[in-house]
Amino acid sequence: DGDELIRRAEVAMYKAKQTHLGHIVFRPELDMRSDEALSLLGELRRAIEHQELRLFLQPKVCMASGEVKGAEALVRWQHPTRGMVPPMKFIPFAEQTGFIRQITYWLLEESARIWRQWADSGLRLDLSVNLSARDLIDSDLPAHLNRLLILHGVPPEHLCLEITESAIMDDPNHALQTLEQFHYMGVKMAIDDFGTGYSSLAYLKRLPVDELKIDKSFVMNMQHDSQDEKIVRSVIDLAHNMGLRVVAEGLEDRRAWEQLSALDCDLAQGYWIAKPMPSDQFLAWASTWQLPAQP
Ligand code: C2E
Ligand code: CA
Ligand code: CA
Ligand code: CA
Repeated sequence: DGDELIRRAEVAMYKAKQTHLGHIVFRPELDMRSDEALSLLGELRRAIEHQELRLFLQPKVCMASGEVKGAEALVRWQHPTRGMVPPMKFIPFAEQTGFIRQITYWLLEESARIWRQWADSGLRLDLSVNLSARDLIDSDLPAHLNRLLILHGVPPEHLCLEITESAIMDDPNHALQTLEQFHYMGVKMAIDDFGTGYSSLAYLKRLPVDELKIDKSFVMNMQHDSQDEKIVRSVIDLAHNMGLRVVAEGLEDRRAWEQLSALDCDLAQGYWIAKPMPSDQFLAWASTWQLPAQP
C-alpha cells in the first residue's frame, strides 16, 4: 500500500543522498536497498508507459466576483494494486532520482491538451503546474515547453508555473536564468508555499514572478492564531505593493473566504470551494459552480 511505498522511497532517498543521487541504482554492485529503489523506479517508469499517472484539477476562484479563473494541476498515481497514491508518496522520490523530469514533461503535455479542450469549448481559463527544483536546472525545459504551447495553441499567459522558494534557493543563479527564459516566453510564474521557505525579500524583488501563493498552513490557522492572521495580511499587502496577485490556498470554510476577501486577497483555492478532481470532471463542475449564498 501507500505506506509501504513511502517507506521504500525513504530508504531509497536515504541511500541516494549518501551516494550523491540516484545514479547509484543503475550500478551493478546493488545491495538490497538500492535494489528496492530500482524496483520503485521501474514501477514509476511503467506508470508513465501504462498511463497510470492522473492529472487532477483544483479550481482557483476570483474572490471579488466569485468566478472560476482557472485550476491547479495536481498529479496522482493510479497504481494497479496500491490504489490512488498521493504526490507526497512519490514526488520526493522522483525528485531524488531525477525521474521527476518525465513526470513534469508528461504533466505539461497533459496540461496543454486540457487547455486546448477548454478553449475548444469556449473557455479561457488559467492552468497552473508545479515545478520541482530539478526542473529549474533542466536547460531543455524552456524550449520543450515552448514547443508544447505552440503545438497545442496555448497562449503562454494562460499557463502559470508554481515554484517554491526552496526550489529556487537550491541553485538560485541557475533557477533565475530558467525563470527569465519562461518570463521571456510569456509564461506566468507563482511563488508557491510563500512564507515557508528562506528566500529573502531582496531576492524576491529580482524574480520575474506574477503571483504569490500563501501557504495553506497560515490560511488554515488564521482563524485561531492572530499571528497567522497578521502574516496573511502582510503577505497580501506585500504582494499588492509589489504589483503581484495573491492566491490563498487551504480555504476550508466560509469564514476563511470572508476573512480573506475582507483582506483583499485576489484568488482562493481550497476544499471549501472544491477538492482536486479528475480533469474530465472539471468543466462540468465549473459550469455549475457558484459562490454559496449567505446562510
Ligand atoms: P502544493 O503545490 O502546495 O499543492 C496544494 C496541496 O494542498 C494539494 O495537495 C491540495 O490538494 C491541497 N489542498 C488544497 N486545498 C486544501 C484545503 O482546503 N485543505 C487541505 N488540507 N489541503 C488542501 P496534493 O495534491 O496532495 O499535493 C501535495 C504537494 O505535492 C503539492 O503541494 C506539491 O508540492 C506536490 N505536487 C502535486 N502535484 C505535483 C506535480 O504535478 N508536480 C510536482 N513537482 N509536485 C506536485
Ligand atoms: Ca502548488
Ligand atoms: Ca502550495
Ligand atoms: Ca506545499
